[in-house]
Amino acid sequence: MSVSPQLAVLESGRADGWRAALERALRAEFLGSPLVLPAGSPLAAPECGVNGCPRAGEKSPWGRFDTRLCGFHWKRWVGDDRPECSDEWLSAQRPPSILRPIERCAADGCRHSVYAVGLCRWHRQEWVEAGRPARERFDAWTRPPAAGEAPCAVAGCGFPACSAREDRNLCDAHTARFHAWRQRRGPLAEHERSLERYVAEIGARARRAVLACVPLPDNPLVALELRFALQCRHDEGGGFINSSCWRETVERLVALEVRSLLDFDCPPPQRAGGRTRVPAWMFYVNCARRSLLALRARLGLEDPWAPDVWHVQLLPVDHAGGRLRNLDWRPIRPAWLRGLCKRWARHRLRGGVSFSHVNSIRLATVRLVEFCELAGWPLDDSACLTRELFDAFLDHARSLQAGAEHKRKIAYGVKQLFEDCHSLGWISLRHPRVYLSGELPAQRERLPRA
Ligand SMILES: [Zn+2]
Ligand SMILES: [Zn+2]
Ligand SMILES: [Zn+2]
Repeated sequence: MSVSPQLAVLESGRADGWRAALERALRAEFLGSPLVLPAGSPLAAPECGVNGCPRAGEKSPWGRFDTRLCGFHWKRWVGDDRPECSDEWLSAQRPPSILRPIERCAADGCRHSVYAVGLCRWHRQEWVEAGRPARERFDAWTRPPAAGEAPCAVAGCGFPACSAREDRNLCDAHTARFHAWRQRRGPLAEHERSLERYVAEIGARARRAVLACVPLPDNPLVALELRFALQCRHDEGGGFINSSCWRETVERLVALEVRSLLDFDCPPPQRAGGRTRVPAWMFYVNCARRSLLALRARLGLEDPWAPDVWHVQLLPVDHAGGRLRNLDWRPIRPAWLRGLCKRWARHRLRGGVSFSHVNSIRLATVRLVEFCELAGWPLDDSACLTRELFDAFLDHARSLQAGAEHKRKIAYGVKQLFEDCHSLGWISLRHPRVYLSGELPAQRERLPRA
């Protein structure tokens, strides 16, 4: 792991200061252990739209504002050829059997859960022995069995344990489900089909269903940082937490032995289908970093202009960055040129120039650096910025397989950056005009405001 500036801060004894700052910034509702989301928090996923399905509705087949589905029902929906009418399809669905809500026995006054045909085990037996009479009469006439005091062993079930079987402390409904579950696992070893295994598995399923309790890593500082990120997301109304993605994030942070979200190297982006992708679990890390950097900037712990990646939201300028999130200066080499570009961008952004314009100049400079590295033009200092270099770069830009507008932006970006820096007295060009107006590729669109 490389030592970043933030790590240097953390290691120089100020980690406690950062930790204390986080603790001060966190409200009591986000400091609980285990962390339970506040009631009505936008961080909790809405329930699946299938009646009785307790899973988190993490998929939105009919658009973001319509009914949502859990992963299980989403697969069903895809299997049914993605029906467009939600009401008709939804009413035909049932929750997965393992999570189906458990009903009370239909016999009057009975406290047991349903075993079969709407009756508990004891009443079903009575009903069969009575020659299966009409149910309405039977349900009203029959007497309730003695309900044992022990509750069902499945967490959150609440029905009394089955009175007929004293060796198993499951309610009637869970007894039936347990038998079916054992049957399906027939070929497995006995310990894989045990009652303990069943109770543990069903408990884990229910926990996975909805993220009520947010898992956090053991490292206290990372846990605090994630708590703070959750609080920010809650306050901004920033969408629910996908439970499996969050769990993976926590697992990865633990496996990488991360000590602070601000000081670990992100894994390299994966290449898939010609596109580079940041791993999905980094999503929450990147969101958290933005919140944490904003806090550090607010507390005066950081100069937002100092890093080589600028977080647009954190920069002290009045106008918004639109869809632009970061300005990454790292591809601009060597360091003096990067410093010059950052100085120019800071100066211009403070003067009211738009982020998108500054970004287009940044991209033009990246193209210039790439060209110099490929074609062997040295960039040791500002004396290397000669008319010959700019001419060669213009030829290169003209020969690119790109539209006229793109070529013009590249040439114009380089022209503006270096002419500005010369006018501001930050560098001294031998020829103060990088390109004359007639030399640039034709201008199709309006000039950028500068
Ligand atoms: Zn569902
Ligand atoms: Zn009953
Ligand atoms: Zn039960």
